[in-house]
Amino acid sequence: MERTYTSELKSGKKVLVMGWARNIRELGGLIFIQLADREGSVQVTLKKGETDDKILKIVKEMNREDCFSVEGSVVKSKQAPGGVELKPTAIEIISKADTPLPIEFDGKIKTGLDKRLDYRFLDLRNPRNMAIFKIRSQMFKATTDFFDSQGFMNINTPKLTVAGVESGAELFPVMYFNKEAFLSQSPQIYKQMMVMGGFEKVYEIAPVFRAEKSHTTRHLTEFTGIDFEMGFIKDVHDVMDVNENLMKHIIGHILKKCDEELKIFDIKLKVPKKIPRITMKEAKEMLAKKGKKLGEKDDLDAEGEKLLGKLMNEKTGEDFVFVYNYPWEKRPFYHMKPEDDPSITSSFDLIWNGVEISTGAQREHRYDILKKQAKEKGVNLDEMKDYGNIFLFGSMPHGGTGFGLDRFVECLLKLENIREAILLPRDPERLTP
Ligand code: ATP
Ligand code: MG
Repeated sequence: MERTYTSELKSGKKVLVMGWARNIRELGGLIFIQLADREGSVQVTLKKGETDDKILKIVKEMNREDCFSVEGSVVKSKQAPGGVELKPTAIEIISKADTPLPIEFDGKIKTGLDKRLDYRFLDLRNPRNMAIFKIRSQMFKATTDFFDSQGFMNINTPKLTVAGVESGAELFPVMYFNKEAFLSQSPQIYKQMMVMGGFEKVYEIAPVFRAEKSHTTRHLTEFTGIDFEMGFIKDVHDVMDVNENLMKHIIGHILKKCDEELKIFDIKLKVPKKIPRITMKEAKEMLAKKGKKLGEKDDLDAEGEKLLGKLMNEKTGEDFVFVYNYPWEKRPFYHMKPEDDPSITSSFDLIWNGVEISTGAQREHRYDILKKQAKEKGVNLDEMKDYGNIFLFGSMPHGGTGFGLDRFVECLLKLENIREAILLPRDPERLTP
């Protein structure tokens, strides 16, 4: 007999189901086993005096989380969750589960996140935790669908590199035979390279490594970066447009595809109508009025982002806001400066519910100006031949953005910690499992 998922059971049918014994209860002459599979669960009901003794004997020995199969008929039941139950004609143990279980994951007893992560594969048997990854998987799909539909080329670039264009502080060194190399902290150089290579529009979804020592609820040392870069832009607003349309597409897709999963989370998700765009100056004025004072050269800190998210939500009803024209002081050398103001850059952050989810910019494509800007930041472009060369053989105005998929999931589901949004987090304390 072919296997049936618990979500496909119809009364009157004979079926074969397989899964785990999530819960076993004995009540008078009745035994109930909750069989859970990927799609949900079903109650298997046995009755002493009615069910075959051989089956009852097997069930007597069963532990929680034993993996087992049941053949039987689906019958309507008012009491059973889901409205049907299974009357078994055969039960087979596929593999026993040790007792006691190393963590509780049924939601009745709260287990700390650290312990949960030690036994992540068991933790995922909780439907809420699995739902996070069903949604994440759909967000990934929505992202690739979006970029493909917009004519972006999917690329894969090296993760073993020499130092990149970002600041060197967050690099993980690795021994590369007898040389020192680094794990990639951004595909920045390669994205720009492939735009100039004639692809014009590229995107990559790949691991990003950052030696962030901080212990926050939104930083990992290895995360999944979503990066895009595009050529022949008018200005940085073209780049923001792509960010905005991507967010609309992802949220629209999740609302359509993940209705059941979203119900588990206490969130109100809506597709943004129009993401407001304000300058850093305007943002700082708004914050100052609420007592949060930031200097001209300052970045928004986490507290500032949070407050701004709240203020903008009250003002516009949107959960997102673009802040653009970041101070030159806080941006890398390759961000373009507008003609009329060398103290700022044509760059932006996208903030979702008070948390930064992406940074983007128009890049400086004129070699001489780029070289000057690099010098201002103490970088010698002559020593970065592979990067500098990109701009010497026909370059054009271009720009792009870096997001983090894990940060997306955290913000979309309003999770308390980014570690819940990634299967196996890496942070300063954790390198296993
Ligand atoms: P933050 O200010 O949050 O530390 P950042 O400005 O240092 O981030 P960027 O270089 O702008 O990071 O990276 C682009 C995006 O990648 C961020 O907006 C965020 O979504 C994600 N990201 C950056 N660092 C991390 C990290 N350590 N863990 C998870 N996601 C990250
Ligand atoms: Mg950033």
